[in-house]
Amino acid sequence: MEVTKGSISIDTENIFPIIKKWLYSDKDIFIRELISNGCDAVSKYKRLASLGEIEALQDEKYKIIVSVSKSNKTIKFSDNGIGMTAEEVDKYINQVAFSGAEDFFNKYKDKMEESNDIIGHFGLGFYSAFMVSSKVEIDTLSYINGAKPVRWISEGGTEFEISESDTRTERGTTITLSLAEDSEEFLDEYHLRSIINKYCSFLPVEIYVENEDVEVKEGEEQTEPTPLNDTNPLWLKSPKDCTDEEYKEFYRKAFNVFDEPLFWIHLNVDYPFNLKGILYFPKLNNEFELVEGKVKLYNNQVFVADNIKEVIPEFLLLLKGVIDCPDLPLNVSRSFLQNDKDVSKISKHIVKKVADKLKSLFKNNREEYNKFWDDIQIFIKFGCLKDEGFYEKIKDYILYKDINGNYITLTDYLESAKEKHENKVFYVNNMDQQSQYVKLFKDYDLNAVVLDCTIDNNFISFIEYKEMGTKFNRIDSDLSDVLKDKDDEDDKENNEIIINLFKDVINDRVEKYSVESLKSKDTPAMILVSEESRRMMEMQARFSGMSFGMDLKEEKTLVINKNNPLVKKLLSLKDNQDKKEDINVICNQIVDLALLSNKELNAEELDLFIKRSNQLMNKVISL
Ligand code: ADP
Repeated sequence: MEVTKGSISIDTENIFPIIKKWLYSDKDIFIRELISNGCDAVSKYKRLASLGEIEALQDEKYKIIVSVSKSNKTIKFSDNGIGMTAEEVDKYINQVAFSGAEDFFNKYKDKMEESNDIIGHFGLGFYSAFMVSSKVEIDTLSYINGAKPVRWISEGGTEFEISESDTRTERGTTITLSLAEDSEEFLDEYHLRSIINKYCSFLPVEIYVENEDVEVKEGEEQTEPTPLNDTNPLWLKSPKDCTDEEYKEFYRKAFNVFDEPLFWIHLNVDYPFNLKGILYFPKLNNEFELVEGKVKLYNNQVFVADNIKEVIPEFLLLLKGVIDCPDLPLNVSRSFLQNDKDVSKISKHIVKKVADKLKSLFKNNREEYNKFWDDIQIFIKFGCLKDEGFYEKIKDYILYKDINGNYITLTDYLESAKEKHENKVFYVNNMDQQSQYVKLFKDYDLNAVVLDCTIDNNFISFIEYKEMGTKFNRIDSDLSDVLKDKDDEDDKENNEIIINLFKDVINDRVEKYSVESLKSKDTPAMILVSEESRRMMEMQARFSGMSFGMDLKEEKTLVINKNNPLVKKLLSLKDNQDKKEDINVICNQIVDLALLSNKELNAEELDLFIKRSNQLMNKVISL
């Protein structure tokens, strides 16, 4: 074969510098492109063999070898796939690929500055090699009987040279890259391995990495090399053939973690689109760990990118998982994905599958589901807020942990509370701080739910908006209708006296008073804060600077317990002028203690409280 020299016929001069600049941020994809080309070549060969077009050897071992040499500054990608004839090199490399590059350039030249908008997969395939190379060489031998080995060399301009190859003696292709000076980092074997791991961990053909600079000394024992990848990833298997142990093992390997997932969903769709994958619900140690979720997207076992939110709804990105979607046009810009109907179908399908799984756990394995709840609740609540369709699907499976540690649904709660407080849901958002109220609720055989995650504030508003009529009230809010003592009516006069004892000393620390006979004698008084006023205050604090055009204040009610011995005593001393001052001190102290057990006192209040406490101690010991 004669040496042919040629020039690729494209109009766009200097296309390589442009591609180089363009792809700079994602340089390492050339590894993915060249390995997956090798993989495709092997698949084509196997396919011909399975069709009986060629007779493949029985024990033929298909593989891709990546060999690196720091001293030669080369990386070679060899496969034993289908190979190419000289005509094919001309057709697929010179013409097709260059025109692909030209198309690409024409399409994106106006968007030079928006490169973030494009996923790191450009369909430039083979030519991505020029991002890192000063020279690229192809040595290939076609599977066709009598074919001659071919060498193609280009130094990155539009010039190439084709001649007969003298290095390739076996079927397949070797691509040799002579690395450019600014890309020598890829010569580092460990770096190279880590990139292969990132993109090619699940490719269907075995991949081996060799270091040409490391000589095998004679007599040294050779260990059998192991492929870097898992050629048959679990997601491709039928769910019924996978064991729990396999799922857990895959989770640990794919995400490099040591913990166990809570449960998982194996997606396996053939129609109307192709989609396979596994989504894992991770165990959370705290709610802020969520950011670490990761869903890896694959296209025919080739890694494309993490967390593509056009395909996988944002809230599902809190999970860990793999999705393989051969049908997706992943080599296009994100704005295209956003408008693609298939993409939104896929996204909807994934949401539906997740909802189905939660439903089936709820219905068939409620005990487990209860156990998972603390870990999955943030994910589910976030999902509801982000996607009302998801909420509609799973609303009956949302659980609430109550103050007794039981997991119940909203319907369960409302049903059991119907007689006492219709449509009202009492909740605790800090079990420690609100323990006094929790105790009161238990005394009265009332129930409340615990909503103590950051997201619960928004979630409460969301449920109130979706479930019209249902109102959430914090456990320290207005309890008048639940505490109402029926036979209290006659005692109005005494109530009035008690209130006045307090009113005299309180100033404006509370706005309202109520006297009740609480079931527990221990507490002399407690503070209730109107739900509305508290929410307004919280909103103002959250959007600091927001003003409602008035001076906002929490509306507090002091509930005085006339079952408490101290309060009884105060009542009996009401006309004793000698005790007037003591009564004042004690009333003050009672109010401060009530305020303290609702929330912290401000500096001035705290100061007074401490002074008064010291004064009381002195008095007790008669200093
Ligand atoms: P794509 O892989 O998207 O078709 P590429 O630019 O990567 O685009 O490759 C162009 C063509 O060159 C391929 O379609 C294939 O026919 C041929 N080719 C590339 N690499 C190999 C290889 N290792 N073995 C055989 N053919 C190859």
